[in-house]
Order: sequence, then C-alpha cells, then structure tokens
Amino acid sequence: DSVFAHLHRSPEDPILGVTVAYNKDPSPVKLNVGVGAYRTDEGKPLVLNVVRQAEQKLVNDRSRVKEYLPIVGLAEFNKLSAKLLLGADSPAIQENRVTTVQCLSGTGSLRIGGEFLARHYHQPTIYIPQPTWGNHPKVFARAGLSVKAYRYYDPATRGLNFQGLLEDLGSAPSGAIVLLHACAHNPTGVDPTIQQWDQIGQLMRSKGLLPFFDNAYQGFASGDLDADAQYVRMFAANGGECLVAQSYAKNMGLYGERVGALSIVCKTADVASRVESQLKLVIRPMYSDPPIHGASIAATILKDRAMYDEWTIELKAMADRIISMRQQLFDALRARGTPGDWSHVIKQIGMFTFTELNSEQVAFMTREYHHI
Ligand code: PLP
Repeated sequence: DSVFAHLHRSPEDPILGVTVAYNKDPSPVKLNVGVGAYRTDEGKPLVLNVVRQAEQKLVNDRSRVKEYLPIVGLAEFNKLSAKLLLGADSPAIQENRVTTVQCLSGTGSLRIGGEFLARHYHQPTIYIPQPTWGNHPKVFARAGLSVKAYRYYDPATRGLNFQGLLEDLGSAPSGAIVLLHACAHNPTGVDPTIQQWDQIGQLMRSKGLLPFFDNAYQGFASGDLDADAQYVRMFAANGGECLVAQSYAKNMGLYGERVGALSIVCKTADVASRVESQLKLVIRPMYSDPPIHGASIAATILKDRAMYDEWTIELKAMADRIISMRQQLFDALRARGTPGDWSHVIKQIGMFTFTELNSEQVAFMTREYHHI
C-alpha cells in the first residue's frame, strides 16, 4: 500500500476550480467568467506589445547571463517598483526609509510580509476585510498571523459598510495589522471615497494600527498609475510605517511570470536596513532567491521613458475596455428587463463584477442554460 494511502482528496480551490470546470467543458461557446485575468474581445489572453518589445531586447542582449539573483532580487527592479508605488518625489524614498524586496508576485509578497510580521511584530494579528480575496486568510494564517475580519461590504446598499468598518477597526487591539486593498477591492469592486480613506487613516494613526496594503491592481482601476496609488501615498506621506505588496500580474499582464515586490516603509533608514536583513532570513530558507526573467521585463519597461509611456497607453486601454464592458453588460441587462437593480455593475471599480448572484442562482444558470 502507498505510504500516502490515508490521504483524502481535497476539494478544488473555489476560484481556480472554475477554470478546471471550464477546461473540462466541451461546449464551443463557453466563457470563463471566473478567471481573474484580462481577456481581449476574442476572449484570448493579452500579451502587451511593450512586454514583447522588452523580451526581445533581453533576448538580443548577449551580455545577459543566468546567474542567481541576490536573495532580495533584482536591485534595479526593486528601486523602480518603489518609485512606481510611492511616486518619483517620495520623501520616504529620498530618505532611504523604504526597503523593497522582489517576491513571487502579489501572493508571494503578502506571504513574505506576513511571515516577517509573525516573527518580528509585537501584535501579530491581521484584520482583513469581509469579504476579501479568498487566498488572504490562508496566506496570512500560514504565515503565522492570527487572522480576524472587519466589516467592509454592505449587501443592502451594495456599497461600503463604513460605520461597521470604523467600529471594527476602532475596537481592534492597538497596534493590530490591517489589510487594505490599495484600489479596486476584490471581490466587491467597492472602494472608500477619498474622505473615507482620510478618516480610516486618522483612526489607524490614533490607534497605532499598522497598514498592510495589497496593491494588486495599480493602474487597472482608473487607468492612471498615480491615481490608483494615491491612498498608499497618503499613508506614507504622513510619516507612518506600512507594508505594501505589489503585483505586476494584472497591470503588465505578467501573471505567470510571478513578478511582484514587498515594500516596507520605515521611520528611519537605519530601521529599513535592519528590516531588510530580516526579510532575507525569511526568504532564504523558503525559495532562496527569486527568478530573473519577469523582473527583468518589468525593469526594462520601467526604466525606459518611451517604453514606460507605451505601457501606460496599453494599460489605459485595458482599464477603459473593462469600464466599457461593465456598461455594455448593464445596458444588456436593462434592455432585457432583467429584474433587480443592476447599477452596481457600473458603480464597481476594477476587473471584477460582484454580481450578488447566490450559488443556487449560479447553479440554476449553468444547469438550465448551458449550451452544449
Ligand atoms: N491580491 C488580490 C486582491 C488579488 O486579487 C490577487 C489576484 O487575483 C492577488 C493578490 C495575487 O495575485 P498574484 O499573486 O498573481 O500577483
């Protein structure tokens, strides 16, 4: 008998399971509405032109070798990522108070940040919004943090439960870590307004709560990289310390290349360098050092003015298409006299539509209206 004979089969991941079911489905008109990845009008994945150009440039450069990167990754990529996040004129960067390490996309950045906090932070409890991206609770629990929820979404208004959010963060123990989606909250598409962000910031400062931003969609919400980073910058500008997980999966379309970074904004340059030394101790026994290719693509684009400009144009086109898809879906639902108020489809921000369809309704649609 196998030494693993006692294992039972675990259920599919609820999100990736949709893709598994999609791949199995023989229908010629199938559409995968579960995947968190951009698609063209033809339903195909998109590789940005500027990414193809960068790859060409890398291939043509015969001086490039395949040596290991340092534990913290590609230095140039880290520097450019911090700049993209905090802005070219960021005082925190100028004062060397930011440490940035290349990680395996957004997920890896969250995991490294989580494990660092579990080991070294005095209040290893993280509050995550209710609901949130399904992997958040698992990533942080595995990292060793105690995971609690704060109210975020109000089904009655299909908007932010701002009162509930303030109450829950207000009664969190002082110093607790708070996970915030930097923009385009997944899965609700509901973001606080600028006034609400301001109030959240005040509350967090008064209670010494530590922000951990998940920045998986910079530029993908509004089409503007600076606008989508403004809340993170607001927190950093106030001199507060915070963590930020950055992903290039969506905004550069580098999903499978696993390109991302963890930045920790600290009070002083000395603290930042000690933080970095400890991050290395988290990374080294986990995967030693990150891969070189994807980060080189991102760095090539970020450091070249013309390529950067081209990137912003392609990024804006993706964001605009998402916004126009929302409008078209809303118009189509209305034209058919579909019962219910579907205005949330156009009010929500980002690539996901929180339909509010329950699992029975989804099962009914796939069962009764499935085309073979
Ligand atoms: N955070 C949020 C909110 C997400 O929606 C996602 C992906 O869907 C991620 C993080 C992780 O993305 P990745 O690890 O591919 O960068």
